[in-house]
Amino acid sequence: MFGRLVIPGGCRKVLVRVWGGRVKDLRNCKLCAWECGVDRLEGERGVCRVTEPVIAAKQLHPAPPASYTVFMAGCNYRCLNCQNWDIAHYPDNPEGRALGYQDPKELAVEAVNMIETNQGRMIGADRIFFSGGEPTIHLPYIEQVVEHYRDTTDLWKVNFDTNGFATRKSMRRIVKLADSITFDFKAYSDPLHRAITGARVEPVLRNLEFLIPKYLDKIWEVRILLIPKAHDTEEIRAMCEFLADLDESVPVCFLAFRPNFVLERHPGAPKRLMERAVEIARECGLHATWSGMPGINGSVPPEVGECADKLLKHYDGRKGAALMGGYARVTGCRNHPRDCLACDDMARCPIKRYVAIRRT
Ligand code: SF4
Ligand code: SF4
Repeated sequence: MFGRLVIPGGCRKVLVRVWGGRVKDLRNCKLCAWECGVDRLEGERGVCRVTEPVIAAKQLHPAPPASYTVFMAGCNYRCLNCQNWDIAHYPDNPEGRALGYQDPKELAVEAVNMIETNQGRMIGADRIFFSGGEPTIHLPYIEQVVEHYRDTTDLWKVNFDTNGFATRKSMRRIVKLADSITFDFKAYSDPLHRAITGARVEPVLRNLEFLIPKYLDKIWEVRILLIPKAHDTEEIRAMCEFLADLDESVPVCFLAFRPNFVLERHPGAPKRLMERAVEIARECGLHATWSGMPGINGSVPPEVGECADKLLKHYDGRKGAALMGGYARVTGCRNHPRDCLACDDMARCPIKRYVAIRRT
């Protein structure tokens, strides 16, 4: 089903014709909080490394909210634990995969038709769900798809799945197009957020501060993936207190880390960590649940532990962040604390090029 990307001939001309004025967002790209300012239409690449909008995969998906899910290729983060690394690290990763560009109207009609199939009805699909990678980097394209979708149906909804690293302007655009938002909150402390993702945390916190008080009804769930030895109880409590201060009724779901990508040898999240996280959330006044498959075997490689000790000073003395930094360092990332926009190796990043052997 999936193949290597095939950009249609004269794709940029097609984009200009189909999108009209929207292409200007790609001329001086500031769609996400990196604000790279590159001209993606001329083939320049920012941190996400993606030029044209590219779909990596699409399918009916039963996970709540059940949907026709469209996985957009590419991501503005370089997370060590990425589960969809062959999609998110497209186009740099040797295993990167993508279907290609699709006309927005065609995709909108296809989504409605798929939701209305027997299989769609059976799983309770009621929306198109944009995921990735990170869909924010393709926002103008998604807006075009949603416009056609709304013209085609007033029955079905739209979900936007995001890491929250959008500019203020893009986040307002996301709120406008989405009926529901699933928000992946990776960490509260800046050293840990940088160590896991390569990006600072401030824009994410700012967007949660914007969304939760004003648009709580649109938040399907804030999702927090717990990586053992990285997310300690202090970090979990800080994340929960931050969310509870914004609104105690925000839905929170902790997800159990499974060994993946650069963290393929790291231990999976134990059940006791997941249960303790739910307890902490409740102590903070939140209503939280957890899901996923806990307890997958793994251990920290000795060379990672040695690197982590040397990196402690770069991550404010935080052991969990330094450990994640250690994984990045042994994979070849020399820039600590990680900051992908400022990195000399941004275009030849060893994290983006990593090929995992183990998939869980
Ligand atoms: S990382 Fe963000 S700002 Fe930079 S080119 Fe990609 S979408 Fe644009
Ligand atoms: S090598 Fe540079 S671009 Fe790659 S993850 Fe490290 S800091 Fe980011």
